[in-house]
Parts: sequence; C-alpha cells; structure tokens
Amino acid sequence: MKRIARLLLLILALQTSAPAWEVVTHDGRRHVSIKDVSKFYRLRDPVINGPAFTLTGGAKTIRGRAGTREIYINNVKYILCFPVGQKGGQILISAMDVTKIIEPVMRPGLIKNAHATRTVILDAGHGGHDSGAKGQRGIEKEAALDVVLRAKRLLEQNGYNVRLTRSSDVFIPLEDRAAFANRFTNAVFVSVHFNKSGGGAASGIETFALAPRGVPSMDEENFSYSDLKLNPGNTQDAENIAFATALHSSMLRHMRLTDRGIKRARFVVIRDIRIPGVLLEGGFMNHPLDGKLITTPAYRDAFARAILEGVGRYRSAVSGESTYQPPSAVASATDKTSIPDLRRSISPIGMHPMLNEAVQRAAESIKAKESQPQETTPNAY
Ligand SMILES: [Zn+2]
Repeated sequence: MKRIARLLLLILALQTSAPAWEVVTHDGRRHVSIKDVSKFYRLRDPVINGPAFTLTGGAKTIRGRAGTREIYINNVKYILCFPVGQKGGQILISAMDVTKIIEPVMRPGLIKNAHATRTVILDAGHGGHDSGAKGQRGIEKEAALDVVLRAKRLLEQNGYNVRLTRSSDVFIPLEDRAAFANRFTNAVFVSVHFNKSGGGAASGIETFALAPRGVPSMDEENFSYSDLKLNPGNTQDAENIAFATALHSSMLRHMRLTDRGIKRARFVVIRDIRIPGVLLEGGFMNHPLDGKLITTPAYRDAFARAILEGVGRYRSAVSGESTYQPPSAVASATDKTSIPDLRRSISPIGMHPMLNEAVQRAAESIKAKESQPQETTPNAY
C-alpha cells in the first residue's frame, strides 16, 4: 500500500514538474532540443562546444555531436535512428530517438509490462550446412554454439531456466527459432553470432535490437517498404533497447574489444518474437586479432559471463530493485570498468606477448580512425 502511495506521488510529481517539450520539425521529422532533454531528465544545462554536446547530472551522461548518428548514454554507444540535427542555434534530436532509446535507457524501471524473468532462450546462430562467417581459424556456427553451451551452464548455476534453439550442429530455419521463442511468454531471447567484414579490417563487438517501425535497418542501404511494417517484436521496443543496453555494456566489460555500438536491424529472430530479444555480434571471424581471440576458451567464457551479467542487469533495471543503481543497467558513468581498456584487451586471457603488442597497435589505429566512419558488414543473416 505504502509502495503504491509512493508511486502515485512520484507520478504526480513527474506530471506537475515535467517541462513541456517544444517540437521542432527538421528534415521532415519531429525533433526536440537537447535543452528540453536535459530539463526533462533533470540534468544540468547542456555544455555545447560547436556541434558537440554533453548533458550530465549525477552519474548520468548523454553526449553526442550534430551531424552524426552516434550518441553515448552513460558511456555506451548507440547508433541513433536519425542523425542529430542543428537548426536556429539549437541542437536537435529526433522524437523517435528520445522515445525509443533515451527514455527506456534512462528510466528502464518505468518500462510498462517489463518482466524480471528467470527464463532465457539462447540461440546459437547458424548450424548444419549454414556455417555462418568463416575466418582463418574457425567458423561461426561452432563458436556460437560453444558460447551458448557455456552461457547455459553459467545461467543454470545461477538459478535461471535455459532453453536452446539448437544444442548441436544442426540447421534450424530462422522462422522456427522465432516460433520456438514464442512458446514462452515470460522470457528473454539472446541470439549469439560472430561477424565478418568485406576487407577483414573491421573489429569489435556490436549488439542489434529490432528497428522500431519507420526506422531504417542499419544493415541495408536503402529505406524500404518493410521499414514501415509493424512487426511482432515492436511490441517490446522499450524492453529490446533496455535489454540490448544491459547486454552490450556487459560485453564491453568482459570482452574488451572495440565498441561498435548498439544498432538496429530487422533480423528474423529479433523481428518475429514476442519476448524481449537481442542479437549479439561477438567479434569478427576474419579479423586477425578478433579471430584469434574467438578461438580461445577464455574469450568464449568471457562472452558467456557477459550474457549472465547482462541478463541480471536487465532484470534489476526493469524491476527497479532498490539495491540497484539505476543507470547501471547501462554501464554507469562512474564505473570505470565500463569503459573498455584496449591496452589490456588480451592480458586477462593470457595471450602471447607478441599478440598483445599487436592488439596494442590495432587499438591505437582504431583510436586514430575513430572519427572516420567504420565499415560495417554484419553478416548475421
Ligand atoms: Zn551470424
């Protein structure tokens, strides 16, 4: 009763103090100013430096740059649905991005109907005649299954119920994987994949959440008619991005590869399910260093631990547990371990010093290239 009364008071307080949003049409789309965003989330006034902006308050930060599609919320990188705009001296963010990314990430405890579930469906990508990405040292279907089996053990040891779409090297159509997930109502879905790039130069980890209706898929060149369809997975847009946030930040912490960000796509397994789901890309099979790491049991264990931690963080985030620091659903800005330290990317797994040096060099070149657009060729499906 007391709890309900407190909740009512909170809702009342939010309603009376929440500032009105001023909607600006830019590029034919509804936008709001970042100043309004900072007011709404009770952050300090934006610090603006040319096209760059930073909003801070407590342990929360939001930073980005006009003209780009990248935004960092509590140090986790998201690829926005639409670029940050600039008009009449204001920096603008699309209403779609405020609703579909900023709000669920900033306040996961307010997501309606989100369950702190203990059932996890793990989906090892590919299988059978479908090998997935091939690198010099291994194939995706084998690595994905191994990671899933390790994650299953860990999750079960921690009291979760785990179901697998496949537990051996067999081919399962994508539609069947989605149908399997839809047999469960109170569960979350994690699809495990590894990437491949055209030239072999791309490296790092990325997480895909289903693109909201009207948002272009980031693995396709052009906007298409299918982008306007409402898919079953869109019912959980808020849960999807919160779940992606929890898992992606855990992956960064445990796997310590380059952060390629949280992206949007319409892969069948995340499009057709009715439970919160994500598709994880745990590194590039055909990148010399990623590929080498992916073969090691230590890296696969780290991936499995990231899944365990991510599921736990999502549970805490949506249930608003009091022992939980709200923004740590997303890697908290105060938590230094949430920022991957590339110099140490190999040492926790005991790799040869020569390789360690090579990683260092690769890390430096990645940093140097950070401002340039990276090539992305997710091969998920
Ligand atoms: Zn794949």
